Amino acid sequence: MEKPIREVAPVAGESREDAVGRFLAEALPQIVWMANGAGELTFVNQHWFDYTGMSWAETLERGWTSALHPLDRERVEGEAMRSALEGVPFDTEYRLRRQDGEYRWHLSRAQARAMPDGSRQWLGIATDIEERKCAEEELRRERERLELALNAAKMGTWDWDVRTGTVTWSHHLKAAAGITEQAFEPSYAAAMGTVHPDDYARVQSAVERSLRDDVPYEQEYRAVRPDGTERWILGKGRVVRNAAGEPERMLGVAMDITERKRSEADLRRYNEQLEQFAFAAAHDLQEPLRNVRIYSELLLRRSAPVLDEQSKDFTRTIQGSAERMANLVRDLLLYARAVDGERDEVIDSAEAVGYALEELAQRISDSGASVSANGSLPTVRVFQPHLIQVFRNLIGNALKYRSLDRPLEIVIGAERQGAEWVFTVRDNGIGIHPDYHERIFGVFKRLHGNDVSGTGIGLAIVKRVVEHYGGRVWVESAEGEGSAFRFTLPAVPGFTQP
Ligand code: ADP
Repeated sequence: MEKPIREVAPVAGESREDAVGRFLAEALPQIVWMANGAGELTFVNQHWFDYTGMSWAETLERGWTSALHPLDRERVEGEAMRSALEGVPFDTEYRLRRQDGEYRWHLSRAQARAMPDGSRQWLGIATDIEERKCAEEELRRERERLELALNAAKMGTWDWDVRTGTVTWSHHLKAAAGITEQAFEPSYAAAMGTVHPDDYARVQSAVERSLRDDVPYEQEYRAVRPDGTERWILGKGRVVRNAAGEPERMLGVAMDITERKRSEADLRRYNEQLEQFAFAAAHDLQEPLRNVRIYSELLLRRSAPVLDEQSKDFTRTIQGSAERMANLVRDLLLYARAVDGERDEVIDSAEAVGYALEELAQRISDSGASVSANGSLPTVRVFQPHLIQVFRNLIGNALKYRSLDRPLEIVIGAERQGAEWVFTVRDNGIGIHPDYHERIFGVFKRLHGNDVSGTGIGLAIVKRVVEHYGGRVWVESAEGEGSAFRFTLPAVPGFTQP
């Protein structure tokens, strides 16, 4: 069927051009309107009626601005008035109420034209821009959130155009570096000029490595402010390349970590002092303890004929306590020295397990335990005696806390998770109630009385060693169902086995 062609017939008093205009207005998906020089509405297209649900009479009676959002009305009326009076183009955004009550953002633009009789006529178009507005709003919120996060993290951003050499810094970064907007020089050389001379070569080669090998850039360094003070900065970035793989830009963030560095140093100092104290105390306690043990022994031996049974019992209690105290002192010394003598070496953890098993061979055979490895074990950067100690303590505990109901099975394994290895020493022993999963790693914390030998230092040493190398340790266990002690160690780049 042929499409009906609509007749563009002028209505009474209307020119042919106006009739064509009216026809076009109906065809447009926007609201089209006309007003006379006094600002009175003379025409709206069908779209207006469909959108607002208002009739022509209602539109005239209430005024078209009655369909505007109350918060926009006054502003838009003012602008319309100014346009009508001064003839300046009308160009504004407002929320317009749809007949279902929903407000949608519209962009309204109008232009005046001079009529043959000298009067002015306004022709306007209002376009629905709700979607664009939403996207803009989302973008604004996104920026706000980012700004908030950057602020909270005291983080600045930087952007280096590798080809032109221009460097841009966010105002946070300038503030952190103590550089004013005026004094800021947007060049790579100037940016590098803020790096402390002792850290310069390291930062420079990290940047070069990122550009060359496409590895992320990450460095902690000292920045020197113009007033000579120093701040610790953590810089992170990545390279953006063109289709040919050549570096185009490098962008990243920089964080002021001076406070963190300070507390780390404080903590290190504090720990060292504590270690020294524990060491000195434990060391100095040994001498008087030896005397207590020797003299109570002498007392029992030499004065046995003159001592009654109760006195002998008292002396034996003193001996037992001195014995336990000697053990505590010995273990405290072990704890204080747990990470002493460190040498930087990359070792095979299987070998460390092997040594630990050798040391425990007698106990393993006495208990009839089976020890097996689940897969092969990785290479790690740990001073070997330290790792042997970790395995000795964990395997030793598995032997000590075995269940009498079943033969003991110990399985040792490791799996790679991201940038670290997760080691596991699993047993099918008595297990540990979840209430104690954290406590047992504390110094001298035990769940057993003196019926089971031990001072409660073994796991504390494991924790100390593992954390010293940047790892974590925890236990997964349920009472009566065995335990899996897990600890992590950073993977050594370049070693991927097992
Ligand atoms: P100790 O063995 O000298 O008591 P540890 O620090 O090695 O000290 O262990 C602390 C406590 O954790 C132990 O007293 C024991 O109750 C519990 N524990 C450690 N390892 C195991 C294990 N493999 N199975 C069950 N309980 C364990």
